[in-house]
Amino acid sequence: MTESPYNSTVIGKILLTPDLLVLRLSTDEPRKQFKAGQYTTIGLLSQEQRSPNSVMPLESMASDILIKRPYSIASANYDTTEFEFYISQVKSGQLTPRLFNLSLGRRMWIDDKILGVFTLDNVPDNCNIVMIATGTGLAPYMSFLRSHLASHLNTKLAVIHGAGYPWDLGYFSELTLIQNTFKNFFYFPTLLRADQNWTGLTGYIEKHLEDEILPNKAGIEIDPSKTHFFLCGNPKMVESVSAYLNKHNYIKHCKDNQGSLHIEEY
Ligand SMILES: Cc1cc2nc3c(=O)[nH]c(=O)nc-3n(C[C@H](O)[C@H](O)[C@H](O)COP(=O)(O)OP(=O)(O)OC[C@H]3O[C@@H](n4cnc5c(N)ncnc54)[C@H](O)[C@@H]3O)c2cc1C
Repeated sequence: MTESPYNSTVIGKILLTPDLLVLRLSTDEPRKQFKAGQYTTIGLLSQEQRSPNSVMPLESMASDILIKRPYSIASANYDTTEFEFYISQVKSGQLTPRLFNLSLGRRMWIDDKILGVFTLDNVPDNCNIVMIATGTGLAPYMSFLRSHLASHLNTKLAVIHGAGYPWDLGYFSELTLIQNTFKNFFYFPTLLRADQNWTGLTGYIEKHLEDEILPNKAGIEIDPSKTHFFLCGNPKMVESVSAYLNKHNYIKHCKDNQGSLHIEEY
């Protein structure tokens, strides 16, 4: 019999909607210290059952393959044995329908490597931080806030989160609580498919930026020397928000270029 590759246990599973999941894993061995905003890879064997609301992918798989995909860590960076992920189900995907079918206590695989440069490392202490996400692109920002909020009290922080319906706004309660507790934190959820019961923002993130929501509602200047932007999620949002920021002299941060615009695409 071959040895199981599994090295962690599901200790939390919250289905926010049939296609949106907060998953918590406990690793058998602690991981190395990591930075908020980084990602790791998780996996399940192909013989695991798929969720009842998924659809069969076009490509079938042999039964003993370990299906692995990268996910941003949503939990704080001081916990190296329990990890939280915010995951949306791709119904015809290989891994996510199997993740959605897991129950508490089930075993699974998690990499021992934690990687990525989408971190706060290159943000000077005196700069504001604007975190823009669509859907599960919010995950790295939950790690930023859970790890570093207490050490960023003298600058402004804002989260702009785009989603479809109100129930797609994962972490709404936690972000609202932070906004009510910290006067330097601003939370702007905006919905594309809200009905009249929703009294908050509607429409695309780009529209709110063009309408100057950040200077007007949070006193945050769109200036690369004063405010760093993080973008995570849908490539179309990343493209159009990048175009808006480029007009304000922002350049994308990379290894050879110290820009104030940080991007992670899923
Ligand atoms: C650095 C990094 C971090 C990531 N972090 C997260 C995270 O925190 N939460 C999260 O939910 N995802 C995250 N992802 C995406 C994740 O790795 C998987 O790609 C995704 O969950 C789909 O996996 P799957 O095996 O179910 O689908 P696959 O079998 O890989 O894909 C099946 C089909 O669906 C398409 N597809 C793939 N992804 C999507 C999608 N998101 N929406 C619509 N169609 C899609 C593919 O093109 C393919 O045709 C991250 C990706 C990267 C690169």
